[in-house]
Amino acid sequence: MLLNAHSVTQQGLTNTNSAVKMSFIKVEPSSDFSFHNLPYGIFSTLDNPKRHIGVAIGDQILDLSVILSLFQGPVMSKHRDALQKPTLNAFMGLGYEAWKETRSTLQFLLSNNESTLRDDCTLCSRAFVPQSVAIMHLPADIGDYTDFYSSRDHATNVGTMFRGKENALMPNWLSLPVGYHGRASSVVVSGTPIRRPLGQMRPDQTKPPVFGPSKQLDIELEMAFFVGGGNLLGEPIPIEKAHEHIFGMVLMNDWSARDIQSWEYVPLGPFLGKNFGTTISPWVVPMEALLPFAEPNPIQYMYWTMKQQLAHQTVNGCNVRPGDLLASGTISGHDPKSFGSMLELSWRGSKSIDLGGGETRTFLWDGDEVTITGHCERDGYRVGFGSCTGVILPALQH
Ligand code: CA
Repeated sequence: MLLNAHSVTQQGLTNTNSAVKMSFIKVEPSSDFSFHNLPYGIFSTLDNPKRHIGVAIGDQILDLSVILSLFQGPVMSKHRDALQKPTLNAFMGLGYEAWKETRSTLQFLLSNNESTLRDDCTLCSRAFVPQSVAIMHLPADIGDYTDFYSSRDHATNVGTMFRGKENALMPNWLSLPVGYHGRASSVVVSGTPIRRPLGQMRPDQTKPPVFGPSKQLDIELEMAFFVGGGNLLGEPIPIEKAHEHIFGMVLMNDWSARDIQSWEYVPLGPFLGKNFGTTISPWVVPMEALLPFAEPNPIQYMYWTMKQQLAHQTVNGCNVRPGDLLASGTISGHDPKSFGSMLELSWRGSKSIDLGGGETRTFLWDGDEVTITGHCERDGYRVGFGSCTGVILPALQH
Protein backbone atom coordinates (compact mmCIF):
# COMPACT_ATOMS: atom_id res chain seq x y z
CA MET A 1 0.00 0.00 0.00
CA LEU A 2 1.32 3.35 -0.96
CA LEU A 3 0.35 6.86 -0.09
CA ASN A 4 2.48 9.76 -1.08
CA ALA A 5 2.44 13.11 0.66
CA HIS A 6 -1.14 13.82 -0.23
CA SER A 7 -2.64 11.29 -2.59
CA VAL A 8 -2.10 8.50 -5.01
CA THR A 9 -4.14 8.51 -8.16
CA GLN A 10 -4.14 5.52 -10.44
CA GLN A 11 -4.28 7.13 -13.85
CA GLY A 12 -6.00 5.86 -16.94
CA LEU A 13 -8.86 4.02 -15.28
CA THR A 14 -12.06 5.87 -15.98
CA ASN A 15 -15.17 3.83 -15.46
CA THR A 16 -17.12 6.93 -14.53
CA ASN A 17 -20.12 6.72 -12.27
CA SER A 18 -21.14 3.08 -12.11
CA ALA A 19 -19.12 2.45 -8.97
CA VAL A 20 -20.51 5.39 -7.00
CA LYS A 21 -24.11 4.27 -7.51
CA MET A 22 -23.65 0.88 -5.91
CA SER A 23 -25.30 1.96 -2.67
CA PHE A 24 -28.70 3.51 -2.02
CA ILE A 25 -26.79 6.05 0.07
CA LYS A 26 -25.67 8.92 -2.14
CA VAL A 27 -21.88 9.10 -2.47
CA GLU A 28 -20.30 12.01 -4.32
CA PRO A 29 -17.38 10.98 -6.59
CA SER A 30 -15.12 13.24 -4.52
CA SER A 31 -16.06 11.49 -1.27
CA ASP A 32 -13.36 9.50 0.54
CA PHE A 33 -16.04 7.19 1.88
CA SER A 34 -17.32 5.28 -1.12
CA PHE A 35 -19.20 1.98 -1.04
CA HIS A 36 -15.78 0.35 -1.61
CA ASN A 37 -14.31 1.84 1.56
CA LEU A 38 -16.64 1.38 4.57
CA PRO A 39 -14.16 2.41 7.30
CA TYR A 40 -14.87 1.92 11.01
CA GLY A 41 -14.85 4.69 13.61
CA ILE A 42 -16.12 5.59 17.07
CA PHE A 43 -18.59 8.46 17.29
CA SER A 44 -21.07 10.18 19.59
CA THR A 45 -23.42 13.12 19.15
CA LEU A 46 -24.54 15.94 21.43
CA ASP A 47 -27.96 14.27 21.68
CA ASN A 48 -26.46 10.85 22.38
CA PRO A 49 -23.09 11.12 24.14
CA LYS A 50 -22.68 7.33 24.37
CA ARG A 51 -19.89 6.14 22.07
CA HIS A 52 -20.95 3.86 19.22
CA ILE A 53 -19.18 2.00 16.42
CA GLY A 54 -20.04 3.55 13.08
CA VAL A 55 -19.23 2.92 9.43
CA ALA A 56 -18.75 5.92 7.14
CA ILE A 57 -20.44 6.03 3.76
CA GLY A 58 -20.74 9.27 1.78
CA ASP A 59 -21.52 12.00 4.31
CA GLN A 60 -23.35 9.57 6.62
CA ILE A 61 -22.44 7.21 9.45
CA LEU A 62 -24.17 3.86 9.82
CA ASP A 63 -24.58 3.19 13.56
CA LEU A 64 -23.89 -0.53 13.98
CA SER A 65 -25.50 -0.68 17.41
CA VAL A 66 -28.88 -0.01 15.76
CA ILE A 67 -28.64 -2.90 13.28
CA LEU A 68 -27.03 -5.61 15.43
CA SER A 69 -29.72 -8.18 14.64
CA LEU A 70 -28.87 -7.93 10.93
CA PHE A 71 -25.44 -9.53 11.50
CA GLN A 72 -26.50 -13.13 10.99
CA GLY A 73 -23.34 -14.79 9.65
CA PRO A 74 -21.80 -17.81 11.40
CA VAL A 75 -19.16 -15.73 13.23
CA MET A 76 -20.84 -12.42 13.96
CA SER A 77 -24.21 -13.86 15.01
CA LYS A 78 -22.32 -15.15 18.06
CA HIS A 79 -20.30 -11.97 18.63
CA ARG A 80 -22.72 -9.08 18.13
CA ASP A 81 -21.68 -7.67 21.50
CA ALA A 82 -18.33 -6.68 19.95
CA LEU A 83 -20.24 -4.23 17.71
CA GLN A 84 -21.83 -2.34 20.59
CA LYS A 85 -18.65 -1.44 22.47
CA PRO A 86 -17.30 2.11 22.91
CA THR A 87 -14.06 1.10 21.11
CA LEU A 88 -13.08 -1.21 18.27
CA ASN A 89 -10.76 -3.38 20.40
CA ALA A 90 -13.19 -6.28 20.88
CA PHE A 91 -14.08 -6.34 17.18
CA MET A 92 -10.38 -6.13 16.23
CA GLY A 93 -9.76 -9.04 18.60
CA LEU A 94 -12.26 -11.31 16.83
CA GLY A 95 -9.84 -11.70 13.93
CA TYR A 96 -9.71 -11.94 10.21
CA GLU A 97 -12.78 -14.12 9.49
CA ALA A 98 -15.00 -11.87 11.62
CA TRP A 99 -13.81 -8.73 9.79
CA LYS A 100 -14.43 -10.33 6.39
CA GLU A 101 -17.90 -11.48 7.35
CA THR A 102 -18.84 -8.09 8.84
CA ARG A 103 -17.67 -6.25 5.75
CA SER A 104 -19.56 -8.62 3.52
CA THR A 105 -22.75 -8.07 5.57
CA LEU A 106 -22.28 -4.30 5.42
CA GLN A 107 -21.80 -4.36 1.63
CA PHE A 108 -24.95 -6.46 1.31
CA LEU A 109 -27.06 -4.20 3.56
CA LEU A 110 -25.84 -0.98 1.91
CA SER A 111 -26.13 -2.16 -1.68
CA ASN A 112 -28.62 -0.61 -4.04
CA ASN A 113 -30.43 -3.89 -4.59
CA GLU A 114 -31.05 -4.84 -0.98
CA SER A 115 -34.28 -3.59 0.60
CA THR A 116 -33.78 -4.40 4.31
CA LEU A 117 -32.37 -0.99 5.18
CA ARG A 118 -33.19 0.85 1.98
CA ASP A 119 -36.97 0.53 2.31
CA ASP A 120 -37.30 0.76 6.09
CA CYS A 121 -37.54 4.49 6.72
CA THR A 122 -37.98 4.10 10.48
CA LEU A 123 -34.90 1.93 10.81
CA CYS A 124 -32.89 4.17 8.46
CA SER A 125 -33.75 7.28 10.44
CA ARG A 126 -32.29 5.65 13.56
CA ALA A 127 -29.36 3.89 11.87
CA PHE A 128 -27.89 6.79 9.87
CA VAL A 129 -26.29 9.86 11.46
CA PRO A 130 -24.91 12.76 9.37
CA GLN A 131 -21.14 13.05 9.80
CA SER A 132 -21.63 16.80 10.26
CA VAL A 133 -23.20 16.25 13.70
CA ALA A 134 -20.87 13.48 14.86
CA ILE A 135 -18.09 13.89 17.39
CA MET A 136 -15.29 11.47 16.53
CA HIS A 137 -13.20 9.68 19.14
CA LEU A 138 -10.11 7.49 19.13
CA PRO A 139 -11.06 4.28 17.33
CA ALA A 140 -9.45 2.03 19.96
CA ASP A 141 -7.88 1.95 23.37
CA ILE A 142 -4.28 1.93 22.18
CA GLY A 143 -2.30 -0.31 24.50
CA ASP A 144 1.04 0.03 22.76
CA TYR A 145 2.34 2.23 19.98
CA THR A 146 5.41 1.59 17.83
CA ASP A 147 6.88 3.97 15.29
CA PHE A 148 9.04 2.58 12.49
CA TYR A 149 11.42 4.42 10.17
CA SER A 150 10.71 2.66 6.89
CA SER A 151 10.93 5.30 4.15
CA ARG A 152 14.36 5.07 2.55
CA ASP A 153 14.24 8.61 1.22
CA HIS A 154 13.31 10.00 4.65
CA ALA A 155 16.01 7.99 6.44
CA THR A 156 18.55 9.06 3.82
CA ASN A 157 17.57 12.74 4.06
CA VAL A 158 17.72 12.83 7.86
CA GLY A 159 20.94 10.81 7.90
CA THR A 160 22.52 13.17 5.37
CA MET A 161 21.59 16.21 7.49
CA PHE A 162 22.89 14.74 10.75
CA ARG A 163 25.83 12.55 9.65
CA GLY A 164 26.68 13.49 6.07
CA LYS A 165 25.90 11.81 2.75
CA GLU A 166 28.42 8.97 3.10
CA ASN A 167 26.89 7.76 6.39
CA ALA A 168 23.27 8.60 5.70
CA LEU A 169 21.87 5.11 6.33
CA MET A 170 23.01 3.34 9.49
CA PRO A 171 24.52 -0.14 8.88
CA ASN A 172 21.39 -1.90 10.21
CA TRP A 173 18.84 0.00 8.14
CA LEU A 174 18.67 -2.31 5.11
CA SER A 175 18.72 -5.45 7.27
CA LEU A 176 15.78 -4.85 9.60
CA PRO A 177 12.87 -2.36 9.96
CA VAL A 178 14.24 0.12 12.51
CA GLY A 179 11.65 1.33 15.04
CA TYR A 180 11.12 2.51 18.60
CA HIS A 181 8.41 2.09 21.23
CA GLY A 182 6.38 5.29 21.38
CA ARG A 183 3.94 6.54 23.98
CA ALA A 184 0.31 5.40 23.57
CA SER A 185 -1.12 7.80 26.18
CA SER A 186 -0.59 10.87 24.00
CA VAL A 187 -2.04 9.51 20.75
CA VAL A 188 -5.08 11.74 20.05
CA VAL A 189 -7.84 11.86 17.48
CA SER A 190 -7.86 14.40 14.65
CA GLY A 191 -9.04 17.83 15.79
CA THR A 192 -7.36 17.70 19.19
CA PRO A 193 -5.16 20.81 19.73
CA ILE A 194 -1.44 20.21 20.33
CA ARG A 195 0.37 22.23 22.99
CA ARG A 196 3.86 23.44 22.00
CA PRO A 197 6.14 21.42 24.27
CA LEU A 198 8.62 22.71 26.82
CA GLY A 199 11.92 20.90 27.05
CA GLN A 200 15.66 20.94 27.30
CA MET A 201 17.67 21.67 24.17
CA ARG A 202 21.07 22.92 23.16
CA PRO A 203 20.73 25.39 20.29
CA ASP A 204 24.31 26.67 20.73
CA GLN A 205 26.84 23.85 20.93
CA THR A 206 29.38 26.15 22.60
CA LYS A 207 27.04 26.87 25.53
CA PRO A 208 25.19 24.76 28.12
CA PRO A 209 21.71 23.42 27.32
CA VAL A 210 18.67 25.64 27.93
CA PHE A 211 15.04 24.94 28.94
CA GLY A 212 12.02 26.47 27.22
CA PRO A 213 9.40 26.14 24.47
CA SER A 214 10.53 24.20 21.39
CA LYS A 215 11.44 26.51 18.51
CA GLN A 216 11.59 23.70 15.96
CA LEU A 217 8.12 22.16 16.12
CA ASP A 218 7.55 19.89 13.13
CA ILE A 219 5.17 17.40 11.55
CA GLU A 220 5.81 13.87 10.35
CA LEU A 221 3.47 12.59 7.66
CA GLU A 222 2.88 8.91 8.37
CA MET A 223 0.45 6.06 7.91
CA ALA A 224 -0.29 3.67 10.76
CA PHE A 225 -2.07 0.35 11.12
CA PHE A 226 -4.11 -1.13 13.93
CA VAL A 227 -3.31 -4.65 15.08
CA GLY A 228 -6.17 -7.11 15.17
CA GLY A 229 -5.96 -10.65 16.42
CA GLY A 230 -2.59 -10.71 18.17
CA ASN A 231 -0.11 -13.26 19.50
CA LEU A 232 0.80 -14.85 22.80
CA LEU A 233 4.00 -13.82 24.54
CA GLY A 234 6.80 -15.98 23.16
CA GLU A 235 5.00 -16.88 19.93
CA PRO A 236 6.04 -14.74 16.94
CA ILE A 237 3.64 -13.91 14.09
CA PRO A 238 5.19 -15.40 10.93
CA ILE A 239 5.19 -13.13 7.89
CA GLU A 240 2.88 -15.57 6.06
CA LYS A 241 0.23 -14.89 8.74
CA ALA A 242 0.91 -11.19 9.29
CA HIS A 243 -1.96 -10.03 7.04
CA GLU A 244 -4.43 -11.80 9.36
CA HIS A 245 -3.32 -9.50 12.19
CA ILE A 246 -3.57 -6.15 10.38
CA PHE A 247 -7.05 -4.68 10.87
CA GLY A 248 -6.85 -1.40 8.97
CA MET A 249 -5.06 1.88 8.44
CA VAL A 250 -5.22 5.55 9.47
CA LEU A 251 -3.31 8.73 8.67
CA MET A 252 -0.91 9.89 11.34
CA ASN A 253 0.97 13.05 12.24
CA ASP A 254 3.88 12.31 14.56
CA TRP A 255 4.43 15.85 15.88
CA SER A 256 8.13 16.28 16.60
CA ALA A 257 10.18 18.91 18.46
CA ARG A 258 13.45 18.75 16.53
CA ASP A 259 15.50 20.85 18.98
CA ILE A 260 14.46 18.68 21.94
CA GLN A 261 14.87 15.50 19.87
CA SER A 262 18.36 16.27 18.56
CA TRP A 263 19.71 16.96 22.08
CA GLU A 264 18.04 14.05 23.91
CA TYR A 265 18.08 11.18 21.40
CA VAL A 266 21.59 9.83 22.01
CA PRO A 267 21.97 6.95 22.89
CA LEU A 268 18.43 5.58 23.45
CA GLY A 269 16.40 7.26 20.72
CA PRO A 270 13.34 9.56 20.62
CA PHE A 271 11.72 10.44 23.97
CA LEU A 272 10.18 13.79 24.99
CA GLY A 273 10.71 15.33 21.55
CA LYS A 274 8.01 12.98 20.25
CA ASN A 275 5.58 11.97 22.99
CA PHE A 276 3.77 15.27 23.64
CA GLY A 277 1.19 14.42 20.97
CA THR A 278 0.56 12.11 18.01
CA THR A 279 -2.56 12.68 15.91
CA ILE A 280 -4.45 10.00 13.96
CA SER A 281 -7.42 10.24 11.60
CA PRO A 282 -10.64 8.85 13.10
CA TRP A 283 -11.72 6.37 10.40
CA VAL A 284 -9.92 3.03 10.19
CA VAL A 285 -9.88 1.90 6.57
CA PRO A 286 -10.08 -1.93 6.33
CA MET A 287 -7.23 -3.71 4.57
CA GLU A 288 -9.73 -5.39 2.25
CA ALA A 289 -10.69 -1.95 0.91
CA LEU A 290 -7.02 -1.13 0.26
CA LEU A 291 -6.04 -4.43 -1.34
CA PRO A 292 -6.96 -3.33 -4.92
CA PHE A 293 -4.38 -0.55 -4.56
CA ALA A 294 -1.52 -2.71 -3.25
CA GLU A 295 1.89 -2.12 -4.82
CA PRO A 296 4.75 -4.59 -5.34
CA ASN A 297 7.33 -4.82 -2.57
CA PRO A 298 9.55 -2.90 -2.09
CA ILE A 299 7.23 -0.15 -3.20
CA GLN A 300 8.11 3.27 -4.48
CA TYR A 301 8.41 5.10 -1.15
CA MET A 302 8.40 2.44 1.56
CA TYR A 303 11.35 0.07 1.83
CA TRP A 304 9.77 -2.04 4.59
CA THR A 305 6.16 -3.24 4.44
CA MET A 306 3.58 -3.47 7.22
CA LYS A 307 3.80 -7.26 7.16
CA GLN A 308 7.57 -7.08 7.62
CA GLN A 309 7.14 -4.54 10.43
CA LEU A 310 4.64 -6.75 12.28
CA ALA A 311 6.73 -9.90 11.79
CA HIS A 312 9.80 -8.03 13.04
CA GLN A 313 7.91 -6.55 16.03
CA THR A 314 7.03 -10.07 17.21
CA VAL A 315 10.05 -12.09 15.99
CA ASN A 316 11.60 -12.13 19.48
CA GLY A 317 8.31 -13.28 21.03
CA CYS A 318 7.05 -9.80 21.93
CA ASN A 319 3.24 -9.93 22.00
CA VAL A 320 0.96 -7.45 20.24
CA ARG A 321 -2.68 -6.95 21.19
CA PRO A 322 -5.86 -5.77 19.44
CA GLY A 323 -5.77 -1.98 19.25
CA ASP A 324 -1.98 -1.66 19.19
CA LEU A 325 -0.85 0.99 16.73
CA LEU A 326 2.16 0.48 14.44
CA ALA A 327 3.25 3.45 12.35
CA SER A 328 5.27 3.68 9.16
CA GLY A 329 7.67 6.45 10.03
CA THR A 330 7.77 9.64 8.00
CA ILE A 331 6.91 8.99 4.36
CA SER A 332 9.08 10.94 1.95
CA GLY A 333 9.62 10.47 -1.74
CA HIS A 334 12.66 11.32 -3.84
CA ASP A 335 11.18 14.58 -5.14
CA PRO A 336 11.55 17.42 -2.59
CA LYS A 337 7.85 18.23 -3.07
CA SER A 338 7.02 14.83 -1.57
CA PHE A 339 9.03 15.28 1.63
CA GLY A 340 6.96 14.36 4.69
CA SER A 341 8.47 16.67 7.31
CA MET A 342 9.35 20.35 7.62
CA LEU A 343 12.82 19.24 8.72
CA GLU A 344 13.33 17.95 5.19
CA LEU A 345 11.24 20.61 3.39
CA SER A 346 13.28 23.39 5.04
CA TRP A 347 16.46 21.27 5.08
CA ARG A 348 16.92 21.69 8.84
CA GLY A 349 15.71 25.27 8.79
CA SER A 350 18.21 26.44 6.15
CA LYS A 351 15.52 27.48 3.63
CA SER A 352 11.96 28.67 3.99
CA ILE A 353 8.92 26.67 2.87
CA ASP A 354 6.54 28.65 0.66
CA LEU A 355 2.94 28.12 1.80
CA GLY A 356 1.49 30.48 -0.83
CA GLY A 357 -0.11 33.87 -0.24
CA GLY A 358 3.19 35.27 0.99
CA GLU A 359 3.30 32.88 3.96
CA THR A 360 6.53 31.04 4.67
CA ARG A 361 7.72 28.72 7.44
CA THR A 362 10.74 26.76 8.49
CA PHE A 363 8.98 25.20 11.48
CA LEU A 364 5.46 25.60 12.98
CA TRP A 365 4.18 28.78 14.63
CA ASP A 366 1.60 29.01 17.40
CA GLY A 367 -1.86 28.98 15.83
CA ASP A 368 -0.74 27.02 12.77
CA GLU A 369 -3.13 24.27 11.78
CA VAL A 370 -1.86 21.21 9.89
CA THR A 371 -4.16 18.91 7.94
CA ILE A 372 -3.02 15.67 6.31
CA THR A 373 -5.31 13.95 3.81
CA GLY A 374 -4.85 10.88 1.66
CA HIS A 375 -6.79 8.69 -0.70
CA CYS A 376 -6.53 5.97 -3.34
CA GLU A 377 -8.55 6.36 -6.52
CA ARG A 378 -9.46 4.24 -9.53
CA ASP A 379 -12.43 3.28 -11.72
CA GLY A 380 -14.25 6.45 -10.69
CA TYR A 381 -14.29 5.79 -6.96
CA ARG A 382 -12.15 6.65 -3.98
CA VAL A 383 -10.99 4.86 -0.89
CA GLY A 384 -9.88 7.69 1.36
CA PHE A 385 -8.86 8.35 4.91
CA GLY A 386 -10.64 11.61 5.71
CA SER A 387 -8.34 14.04 7.45
CA CYS A 388 -5.82 14.23 10.26
CA THR A 389 -5.78 17.74 11.73
CA GLY A 390 -4.28 19.60 14.67
CA VAL A 391 -3.70 23.22 15.67
CA ILE A 392 -0.68 24.40 17.66
CA LEU A 393 -1.40 26.05 21.01
CA PRO A 394 1.21 28.32 22.65
CA ALA A 395 3.53 26.73 25.20
CA LEU A 396 2.56 26.96 28.87
CA GLN A 397 4.25 29.70 30.87
CA HIS A 398 7.32 28.43 32.66
CA1 CA B 1 7.91 9.31 13.37
